Amino acid sequence: MSGEVAVVVSRHGVDRLRKGHVWVYRSDVRAPSELRGGEVVRLEDERGHFLGRAFYGKTSQISVRLLTREEEPVDEEFFARRLSGAKALRDATWPDPERRRAARVVHGESDLLPGLIVDRYADVLSVQTLIEATEARREMFASLLEAQWSPRAIVERNDAKVRAHEGLPLRKGMLRGSPPGPVEFLEGEVRLVADPLEGQKTGAFLDQAENRIEAGRYAHGRALDCFTYGGAFALQLARRAERVLAVDISEDAAALGREAARRTGAGNVEFLVANAFDYLKDQVDEGEQFDTIVLDPPAFAKTRGSADAALRGYKEINLRAFQLLSPGGVLVTASCSFHVGEALFEETVLSAAADAQRTVQLVEKRGAARDHPALLGVPETRYLKCLILRAL
Ligand code: SAH
Repeated sequence: MSGEVAVVVSRHGVDRLRKGHVWVYRSDVRAPSELRGGEVVRLEDERGHFLGRAFYGKTSQISVRLLTREEEPVDEEFFARRLSGAKALRDATWPDPERRRAARVVHGESDLLPGLIVDRYADVLSVQTLIEATEARREMFASLLEAQWSPRAIVERNDAKVRAHEGLPLRKGMLRGSPPGPVEFLEGEVRLVADPLEGQKTGAFLDQAENRIEAGRYAHGRALDCFTYGGAFALQLARRAERVLAVDISEDAAALGREAARRTGAGNVEFLVANAFDYLKDQVDEGEQFDTIVLDPPAFAKTRGSADAALRGYKEINLRAFQLLSPGGVLVTASCSFHVGEALFEETVLSAAADAQRTVQLVEKRGAARDHPALLGVPETRYLKCLILRAL
């Protein structure tokens, strides 16, 4: 391709790409100063050999994000093919001809569409363009997605803080159609509600969808769902448990949860607005017991530096949960902090069990739902851990 700008990748960077990663950091690239950020560039090694094509970022520490290792043009058709490829996985794993469900239909790097996230809530799409290059192609992606999914509306949730690292403004609004309001969708047998424009993230936490349905299988007796947000775990538990208490610190979350409970017809769920740390401690002090507990906190470790504090947080809530569980009680415990890896998370949960003097069975070890695939070679795409445990 004539006029194409080449970015040179150091040997260290080439090695990273060869091992399967798709990011190369600023210290490993030499880029011509004419680049403004957001372009598609040609990647070459120090001897001028073609490595692939990538999105170039001027502000981010991640300078290039690989799009293809092939000698192929990166044009609108290229992106249309990538979007169809992403859709094919969702059609296979979660076929939904009536479009009543929710799914992540584009998972950024994992779908070889770096910096692009698209969640579908029934007939509404919620989009994040998280880097300069996807930001610059926002309109093109909106048109391609419109043609692919025929949604009633496309919301832009570019109020994600990570955009600041890219020098991009925080913003939310409509790309197509008018504000959709709360959207109802099915998760398993449960009716949930998401507000794609006003809710947290893109409206809901879809990575836990399969874990929630699975958790419902083990629910019994008195159940407690901590960090419930819109009650998505709580409502799955409610199908088998006698009674469910759902706790979140946010009043808006509780309101969303109450609305979902009403729509799905669950009369046995109570939403409480409280700090889960305090609530768990109070329940232990009062000698309460639960038969089913879910812990799905926000990412306690946002950076590598905060991993220690995060571990203390995980330790505390898991310890309380083990203290509260009745014999045979089930704990579903999750961590979405990438900086707390699988092994470290399991160690922390084990040490909480030991401190509570509980013997615990590992029933299931789970990750993100299948519509959030990871990319082998890119550990950052594997962040969600979810353990289903049974305290004897
Ligand atoms: N379990 C939810 C997602 C949870 S996201 C689901 O499956 O959809 C994390 C939630 O924790 C957010 O709703 C946030 O409001 C809440 N939260 C954050 N800190 C909290 C605290 N200290 N106590 C209770 N809730 C908290």
